Amino acid sequence: MQNITDMIAEGKGKRLYATENPDEAVVYYRDETFAFHGLKRGRIIGKGEINNLICEYMFTMLTEKGVPNHFIRRIDNRCSLVKRVEIIPVTVKVRNIVAGSLAKRIGYPDGTRLKNTVLEYCLKDPELEDPLVNLTHITAMSLATPEEIKRMEELSLRVNEIVSGCMAEINIELIDFKLEFGRYKGQILLADEVSPDTCRFWDARTHEPLDIDRFRHDLGDVEEAYREVLHRLTGNVLKNTEEE
Ligand code: UDP
Repeated sequence: MQNITDMIAEGKGKRLYATENPDEAVVYYRDETFAFHGLKRGRIIGKGEINNLICEYMFTMLTEKGVPNHFIRRIDNRCSLVKRVEIIPVTVKVRNIVAGSLAKRIGYPDGTRLKNTVLEYCLKDPELEDPLVNLTHITAMSLATPEEIKRMEELSLRVNEIVSGCMAEINIELIDFKLEFGRYKGQILLADEVSPDTCRFWDARTHEPLDIDRFRHDLGDVEEAYREVLHRLTGNVLKNTEEE
């Protein structure tokens, strides 16, 4: 076990702890969840364990396919060891099909296929409710350099290709997702997570969501949907255990 020291950050679904090695950190995946900028809170029993395994699967696959990322290894049921990056305070949203905030913004119905992949940037600032920004805002605010933005864009599109392809094989459509990146020893690494907390996954046959939208919109069977994604990806049948 790594020697955990202080908590560095606490997010919607995770806590991040420092270790004695300044280049590494431990991610602890929680069952707790928030939606609508914290207005709705709840618990998805076993989510922490499931997301830890899904992220291990995703990051391992992305490493094999040449997408540099923060993942080092899974430590136990709820924790993974990662490289300690300096998070770039801009999130990237990648969209293949209209859903969520985009449906509201452009007035297209959910499920409309987009003619090309849409990339969006948001400020990582919960107090401002993570507003949409464009590339000139990002450079004007010195949040990232043009080279860093170019690299984030390139990696985001590559993640889209890899994860869309992998999900298609298990009859799941990748609708959209959110990514975060960090700086680490002069490199840009994919950080944060790739899981049903940050991606819209729809069953390819029924178009039912298998992700956090089940919690956001009270669709029921939330735990089952997370377990289903893990099972289709890895064959793993988890008996969810509640977080202490
Ligand atoms: N997303 C996320 N964290 C957020 C907001 C969005 O992971 O704080 C993900 C969301 O699950 C979806 C994608 O980003 O896969 C696009 O989200 P959208 O802008 O439609 O916002 P939402 O409708 O989720 O608020």
